[in-house]
Amino acid sequence: MLQFTTMRIAARDCVRLSLRSFASSGATPGRVSSLQPLLPEKNSRRSVSQKAKVVCPDAQVVEAPLELLQKAVVPKVKLYGPGPSDMPASVQQSLNAPLLGHLHPHFLNIMKDVRSGLQYVFQTRNKLSFALSGTGHAGMECAFVNLCERGDRVLIIKNGIWGARAADLAKRLELDVKVLDVPEGAVADVEHFAKVVKEFRPLAVFLCHGESSTGVAHPLEGFGEVCRNSGALLIVDTVASLGAAPFRCDDLLVDCVYSATQKCLNAPPGLAPMSFNDRAIEKIRSRKNRVPSFYFDALEIGNYWGCFEDAPRYHHTAPISTVYSLRAALSNVVQEGIENSVERHIENSKYLYQLLESNGFELFVQNAEHRLPCLTTVKVPEGVQWKQVNDALMQKGLEISGGLGPTAGKIWRIGTFGDNSRREKIDEVSRMFVEEVNAHRK
Ligand SMILES: *Cc1c(COP(=O)(O)O)cnc(C)c1O
Repeated sequence: MLQFTTMRIAARDCVRLSLRSFASSGATPGRVSSLQPLLPEKNSRRSVSQKAKVVCPDAQVVEAPLELLQKAVVPKVKLYGPGPSDMPASVQQSLNAPLLGHLHPHFLNIMKDVRSGLQYVFQTRNKLSFALSGTGHAGMECAFVNLCERGDRVLIIKNGIWGARAADLAKRLELDVKVLDVPEGAVADVEHFAKVVKEFRPLAVFLCHGESSTGVAHPLEGFGEVCRNSGALLIVDTVASLGAAPFRCDDLLVDCVYSATQKCLNAPPGLAPMSFNDRAIEKIRSRKNRVPSFYFDALEIGNYWGCFEDAPRYHHTAPISTVYSLRAALSNVVQEGIENSVERHIENSKYLYQLLESNGFELFVQNAEHRLPCLTTVKVPEGVQWKQVNDALMQKGLEISGGLGPTAGKIWRIGTFGDNSRREKIDEVSRMFVEEVNAHRK
């Protein structure tokens, strides 16, 4: 025990001394490559003892990363990629509120407000609605680990990277996976889908509403009915579409939906809004085996979020500040109205298409009805290096993105999420984009 204490003091002294020797060496900031001889400070309360030298010879010392004494460099960037998106001042400020304990009555109230806000943006009365601690991917994992068990048949509609990712996850979970392949930029036909469901008899179906790798908004009408009639659960990814493309969870007969905070909601990444209906809850309750993940156990999380009658228990510590920011973001949606938000995204995306097309650009998604109103995909013209354009724009403080997965190298992706979908902002972004591409034409 005595020796343990000695070692702790010694480690602290090593760090302190290495900092001091760095400071007096006059070197520029950065990692010190080797420790200067550790000289005891004259009026230091404790000098480096023989013992300390023994317990921290040079070879064992993890040097203090002196770059951490400098302020982090965070340039101001306008975020017009596929997420994250810019935070409005109200959301930014909400992050400065003091922390509360994760079960403090006022924090529980904030969680309750967030739940109501999520029910509103999802247009659902589902009691099991909460913001999962984790990003959009966590939402996907949570949906699958709760609703599916090893060997369950799942049908994945794939028209871009998110269907591919869901299929990858489902295979890792050892589900019986069938992929309904749709060409990139296109959508599945509901009649064909119904036929595949009839033959394969899946227990769950995955569909991505806003396929951000291609810029497609997938129609949902009819898919819910097919699932309901065949007894399958419908899981929908609305990470890139919520707030921009029309979505009504209950009317569309969606059984489980998830999203993320850093796209149209304009909050920082870190939470995945989710909702499960009673059919989904029934499936979880009648599982043969327990949900194999503690952290993603939807019923446990639902208890913590106050979704059921029983008093909230500690499950994990919610990311308190991020929950504040989601409340502020949802407040903004409530102020505008979800329908108005969707309408604004649709109007402004048409404006962006018009600006791009009038400058000779071709949009990637042919059918105008299937375009995602918050993420526009533009074909890279012959002879232009897409990355040079992106790098040059980043130099000017504007982030846009190239393609992803199947569209890599073929397109640019310009995100106009939430408050970034404003006419004057679109004017600026499209002007900068068009100028930069023209400057890079051979
Ligand atoms: C961004 C995105 C995700 C992943 O979200 P993360 O927050 O990066 O984990 C999932 N699905 C879609 C459609 C997305 O656009």
